[in-house]
Amino acid sequence: MRPDELFRLVLAAADDEGRIFSHTDTATWPPGSVAQLHRLGMIREASGCLHAPCPNCPDGHIEPVTVRTGTDQRQRFFIWCPESMRVEIAPQMCQGWELDPDGLARGIAAVLGLKDHPRPVLAQRFWRLGRTSWPPGSGHTREVVFARRLHQHDAATVAALVGAGGRAIVLVPYHVPDERVWPGAVPAVIPLAEVMTWDIDGPVLDAMAMVDTVETADQLAAAGAALTLGSVGKQLVRRQVKAEIKSLLSDDAYLAAYREHGSFRKAAEALTQQTGQPVAKDKVRRAVERHGGLAAIVSEDDSGSVSRRVASQRRDRAKKMLERR
Ligand SMILES: [Zn+2]
Repeated sequence: MRPDELFRLVLAAADDEGRIFSHTDTATWPPGSVAQLHRLGMIREASGCLHAPCPNCPDGHIEPVTVRTGTDQRQRFFIWCPESMRVEIAPQMCQGWELDPDGLARGIAAVLGLKDHPRPVLAQRFWRLGRTSWPPGSGHTREVVFARRLHQHDAATVAALVGAGGRAIVLVPYHVPDERVWPGAVPAVIPLAEVMTWDIDGPVLDAMAMVDTVETADQLAAAGAALTLGSVGKQLVRRQVKAEIKSLLSDDAYLAAYREHGSFRKAAEALTQQTGQPVAKDKVRRAVERHGGLAAIVSEDDSGSVSRRVASQRRDRAKKMLERR
């Protein structure tokens, strides 16, 4: 397993309840990653983990562990195996790890460059992380919150903590909740699995992806708010607008226009004319940047390494863009 795959797994676990990583799981993780995640505060030793794989059977079936204290006062661990009967287990095989949600919230706030400590509003579920300069570099700020398990049946009670204004930026680990959970305007919801990756030292943010996601959400909210429809009608319209925005703003369209016209401004003007909707030249610029910048676009046909370059450029930019001023 690669480190970025492991991080996705951790984020998926953060949207899950009671997920425990056993020795069998962590054995497939990159070397040193248990210690690293633990040091970063994102995982902790599982308190109730007393399951272990059978060391005698090829399928490594998982069984509950029984603890016995021997005459020498040492603890010994056993499982019951249908083949071998009672089997002693090495202590490290019984060790499990679980997500530390507060630690994850702290880690996310740190990656975003937020200076305040995350404030848990609903234990284990909802944190206020602080305010970030938004759009990045402007004098304005927006509140950033972190919520988990918003796809579960009680999500609406958690989502209600955001408020009805729809201005908060809501970070979720993995699953984007159904739009109906929100009390009022649908806020910008960012699945961290889409905007964060794992570098050697820990998690990093793809700031460009985050900016784009928030902008799209804002456009959708504005389109929805302009209509006097019931909630079902608004949902339909949102879905339609979302599809339109998606097709309008596909990167391919931007790149094609840029290649054809050779400047961000001219490409934006051409797209504005074609679509009948105002297209800002920054949108073209961002699409080009997402695909590795000018040099990469021009020489794309004979280069297979565009995506790798993008990833490293995004990381550099991430730090600058979301620093709180
Ligand atoms: Zn067995």
